[in-house]
Amino acid sequence: MKVKELEEHPTFAAVLPPATSEEYDTTGWRAFKPVVDKEKCTGCLICWVYCPEPAIIRTPDRKIEFDYKHCKGCGICEVECPVKAIKMVKEV
Ligand code: SF4
Ligand code: SF4
Repeated sequence: MKVKELEEHPTFAAVLPPATSEEYDTTGWRAFKPVVDKEKCTGCLICWVYCPEPAIIRTPDRKIEFDYKHCKGCGICEVECPVKAIKMVKEV
């Protein structure tokens, strides 16, 4: 579908322009947030690959931390972590 067609049908869900997720603060979207257990984390970075947002940051020790400003609380990282080092916890 062309951009012009999308503009003519504003009820169609689309983000224009693409690759702008770093500009959005998604803090208010979450009911749950991911927390990593650094003792369990092996640094495989699978969570980083699967996260749909720029919300997982690689640390110098090849482990991870979260940028909660961009995390929308989808829980994909918890599901994909092979050693169950990530838990989704309720926002307070
Ligand atoms: S909960 Fe979703 S958006 Fe947040 S860090 Fe995990 S995969 Fe990324
Ligand atoms: S997927 Fe799990 S073990 Fe791998 S880097 Fe992420 S938190 Fe660490």
